Amino acid sequence: MAWTNEDVARQFAEIVTLLKLSGADQFRVRAYERAAGAIGAAPTDLATLDEAGIAALRGIGASTARKVSEYLTTGKIAMLEDLRGAVPAGLVELIRVPGLGPKTARLLYDSLGINSVEALREAIETERLRGLPGLGVKTEANLRDAIARVGAKDTGRVPMADAVAVAEELCRRLRELPVVEDVTYAGSLRRMRETIGDIDILAASTAPAHVHDALRSSELVTDVLAAGDKKTSVIVRRGIQADLRVVAPEAYGAALIYFTGSKDHNVRIRERAVRSGLTLNEYGLFDKETERRLECRTEAEVYEQLGLPFIPPPMREDTGEVQAAVAGNLPAVVHLEDIRGDLHGHSDWSGDGKATLEEMVAAAAGLGYEYWAVTDHAEGLPMNGLSRQQMLQRRTAIEMLQERYDIRILEGAELNIGPEGDVDYDPQFLATLDFCVASIHTLMTRAGAVQTRRIITAMENPAVHAIGHLTGRKIGGRPPYDVDLDAILDAAKRTGTALEVNASPHRLDISSDMVRRAVEAGVTLTISCDGHSVGDLRSMRYGVGTAQRGWATSQDVLNCRPLDGLFDFVAAKRT
Ligand SMILES: [Zn+2]
Ligand SMILES: [Zn+2]
Repeated sequence: MAWTNEDVARQFAEIVTLLKLSGADQFRVRAYERAAGAIGAAPTDLATLDEAGIAALRGIGASTARKVSEYLTTGKIAMLEDLRGAVPAGLVELIRVPGLGPKTARLLYDSLGINSVEALREAIETERLRGLPGLGVKTEANLRDAIARVGAKDTGRVPMADAVAVAEELCRRLRELPVVEDVTYAGSLRRMRETIGDIDILAASTAPAHVHDALRSSELVTDVLAAGDKKTSVIVRRGIQADLRVVAPEAYGAALIYFTGSKDHNVRIRERAVRSGLTLNEYGLFDKETERRLECRTEAEVYEQLGLPFIPPPMREDTGEVQAAVAGNLPAVVHLEDIRGDLHGHSDWSGDGKATLEEMVAAAAGLGYEYWAVTDHAEGLPMNGLSRQQMLQRRTAIEMLQERYDIRILEGAELNIGPEGDVDYDPQFLATLDFCVASIHTLMTRAGAVQTRRIITAMENPAVHAIGHLTGRKIGGRPPYDVDLDAILDAAKRTGTALEVNASPHRLDISSDMVRRAVEAGVTLTISCDGHSVGDLRSMRYGVGTAQRGWATSQDVLNCRPLDGLFDFVAAKRT
């Protein structure tokens, strides 16, 4: 099933935002906030439950259950659709500015008609904000900085996280048609780019009209843009465009390569085809002389005909992968099956975890992992970090759970990197923990040089085994801080500290470009979900995709090592 709890929770989070923007009363807003929280925290996949089963979950009432069920079957919530129609898009754009909440956005819109980030910038320049109640010179200055950090204007691409669930659900529904032999999403989504332009779906069938019809009449579709016999273009919720192409089964391999791209990768392998007397296009691989189509039902068969090994989609960016494949030294990049554990995760021992420790451990065990590190926030984060006393209580809880689960529970913490690179607790206490991630959660707007210095100081701490979400970015939201990556890679090598590839599709931090540089520098990586709920643990594949884009092999990834290899790494850091 394609709908994840996180995806459902996001719909409710959007309801909350839109209700706030529309000035709804706060009790109503609170009710939906609680619903979003309860959905995110649900220990089971909502898609496996019926409406009564959903309503029986902790914190979810009948009215929420009805909306969840509506979403799971139709991909829409009528109430949310109405809200989207009622709240001006410009208002929604305004709250993308860090620190600009719904209340202020509403005020700006109502009193000055400000309906875009651009209009806000202009209002600041012309000092029009100054007369507004509660908006002092300081707020104005903060907003000016925040706008600068929002950076370049959105180019119409959406975060991968917003598209993947609906793409998978569309594929799942098409796969159920008896006339469909194969179907998958292609394009930049399959290459796991962090943002995508639209969803490309490719199906293999001998009855294409039937497949095109099925997409057009799908409940998930809000608008049909083009309906041909080769291609159907539709809009699926939130304005994301999806294009469906249907090809003959014997052309599926070539077509999948064509529509997966990238364009530059395809140019490169078409050149190779030409040199072998072949033509490669979206309709298949042909012998140039006889114009006969070579049967290639899979991509691997196409690559084989071209004398190449299969190149994983995330690597197809024409950054040397074809040359490496020709030379026989294409790296065997890490795969999801190589992952033996997850080294960054939270429980409700700290304020922001949404599931109990046992729920998280059980879920990690269910994924077949050998180990899972619980790295709750530490005492340095006043709102939700664990005091030393709480850490000791949690230790007892871990010991009790460990007796009942085969998976090794690693006792850890996500340490907060302080202003000077200092971290929580003291060295003696830290030495009793199995694995620690250190990350920046405070003073996030400091200059890149300051952040670099803080991070390197943290790396020099023998208790810090990995740096979490290095640049702090949120895709489509917060821009990264401008760290000096070369200096950080040097320090990571020198101190034996790993760099995390945060697998949350909202973060993907470090980015694939940074992964590539880390791999070239010989720096060890971790790929971790930073899970705050059970559903988050399934984000691992996005981290793996990002690592593949950066050409990382399982040798580069700490959590591909068995437990004793992991402990060796930790021990080496301590000496
Ligand atoms: Zn964090
Ligand atoms: Zn975390």
